[in-house]
Amino acid sequence: MKSVYKSTRVMIMKAMVLKAVTRLAENREPLELSELPVPVPGSAELLVKVSACGVCHTELDEIEGRTPPSLLPIVPGHQAVGRVVAVGQDVTGYGPGDRVGMAWIFSACGACDLCRSGTENLCAGFRATGRDAHGGYAEFAVIPAAFAHRIPEVFTDSEAAPLLCAGAIGYRSLMLSAIRDGDVLGLTGFGGSAHLVLKMVRHRLPRTRVHVFARSAAEQAFARELGACWAEDTDSRPPEPLDAVIDTTPAWKPVVSALAHLKSGGRLVINAIRKEDADKGELLKLDYAVHLWQEKQIKSVANVTRRDVREFLALAAEIPIRPEIQEYPLEEANRALVELKERRIRGVKVLRIA
Ligand SMILES: [Zn+2]
Ligand SMILES: [Zn+2]
Repeated sequence: MKSVYKSTRVMIMKAMVLKAVTRLAENREPLELSELPVPVPGSAELLVKVSACGVCHTELDEIEGRTPPSLLPIVPGHQAVGRVVAVGQDVTGYGPGDRVGMAWIFSACGACDLCRSGTENLCAGFRATGRDAHGGYAEFAVIPAAFAHRIPEVFTDSEAAPLLCAGAIGYRSLMLSAIRDGDVLGLTGFGGSAHLVLKMVRHRLPRTRVHVFARSAAEQAFARELGACWAEDTDSRPPEPLDAVIDTTPAWKPVVSALAHLKSGGRLVINAIRKEDADKGELLKLDYAVHLWQEKQIKSVANVTRRDVREFLALAAEIPIRPEIQEYPLEEANRALVELKERRIRGVKVLRIA
């Protein structure tokens, strides 16, 4: 191992750890501040000193068991930025001091048909950072060098962190929506990912009108501020039919209304790793003629590829997209998660790790 550390004694780090699946409604402190040994990188891995890690809705799904971690206890967090402090013996191309990011894709098998055809996000061996391998809610993390991402100069660590998930998955959902300049796009939900999609559209597809459905008045105002031409409550009817809708809500009702608002041949892209079951009954309102006929399409977004992350980082740097961020110290990760659950959202939440 090539390292900037001379000492071989075990070093200890602070981490916020999930020990058991729980419900945030009853347990407002699902993560425990813990001391863990600093991980040792394998031969093809990097050891990274983390300085910022984004807080994602997917962490709520992990904590509450909708996409449960495959190992417990686990250090969550899949949008981390930091500096390389040591590299495994087989690593080339990275050295101590390099700034890198880790995204949701921790690794994929690299050998199956899906991996070889550019859809490593669908690989049966897909491992997610912070769910199937320890993530960035900690002072240090290890990642396979092949799955690390260089961070463009233009961003601070905190700005770059949410680009790695909210931005990259927003980019993938925009690609899957097949929207062209001048088409009309709807966004249901206006959290971290959707606000970055709106920024991308303003730049890349300047003639496209964007209509936003959001529950809170604050989110609606924020959407208008960022260039949405219409932003109203989830139940409202948009002023014109939509070519595509990207849904980032955890609920079912917005799915049903989005389908009703689509033009013939329109596309609904559901960008959510899991839906919550609270309003599942809404699906019984599906009327084939109103919601599905006329070749309307529904597609989910699953994970991201390394290519999504890299293409999006390059685009974000070129624009540049600066996410609206709200910072919290690592120790206050639970507060950030509760606020996310309660939808006290403006932009994206980022943990600062001293
Ligand atoms: Zn995420
Ligand atoms: Zn594979």
